Amino acid sequence: GDPGDVVLEVRNLAKTFGGLKALDSVDLEVRRNTIHALIGPNGSGKTTFVNVLSGLYRPSGGRIRFGGRDATARAPHVLSGRGLARTFQNIRLFRSMTCLDNVMVGAQRPGNDLSAEGGGVEARALSALDFVGLLDRADALVGDLPYGHQRKVEIARALAADPALLLLDEPAAGLNTTEKGQLVELLRRLKGLGLTILIIEHDMPLVEAVADQITVLNFGQRISDGTPAEVLRDPAVVTAYLGE
Ligand code: ADP
Repeated sequence: GDPGDVVLEVRNLAKTFGGLKALDSVDLEVRRNTIHALIGPNGSGKTTFVNVLSGLYRPSGGRIRFGGRDATARAPHVLSGRGLARTFQNIRLFRSMTCLDNVMVGAQRPGNDLSAEGGGVEARALSALDFVGLLDRADALVGDLPYGHQRKVEIARALAADPALLLLDEPAAGLNTTEKGQLVELLRRLKGLGLTILIIEHDMPLVEAVADQITVLNFGQRISDGTPAEVLRDPAVVTAYLGE
């Protein structure tokens, strides 16, 4: 394929904490307009990977390229300025602010030329809320919304940044079955918009339902990589999950 189709390229990524190799020479490639899942048992290094990728931790080794440019050990605001938007395992929203105001924070990322697109920050935020089905709650305080709605607001905030890569850290955590179904549908519509998504997720049926590509970590190492059909029947993956 065209090398321009690779949005994120990670090579030999390493992160050690004292003597512990939380990430051990991890490779990962996310192609444009795909949903790529990063999975693995507890303690396998997923959160560490996300934190290194988004600039919260400095890698101990390896390289990251994002959008065709070196992105190794860049500060979080630099990466968000280049179009890396993320959600968090534990929702991080301003609970005493409205949904609209929270999403507008996302729409104001540096490097986003809103005037050229004619939308403006508020219009863009409203359109993101509409996309996740919460336009009618625009003026509600986030803290007054049920948990499943708060997850959607967080996705809308990331979406409003018009991201080149959307990083979702366990978006299904705490959702009920109905809400998980809605999340699957939302992820498919995001892909339909042309987005590129890296999702860290524990829920295997959800991963199987949405992922084009899966990378599996175990003890900080990549043990499998491929389509859901390839990865989920890989004996190394089955063995890694048996201990859970
Ligand atoms: P996962 O997200 O897959 O559950 P983590 O990335 O949280 O895995 O953890 C990978 C390993 O790194 C674990 O052994 C964990 O204890 C260790 N670890 C993670 N963060 C730190 C830290 N800040 N300091 C020391 N050890 C850490």
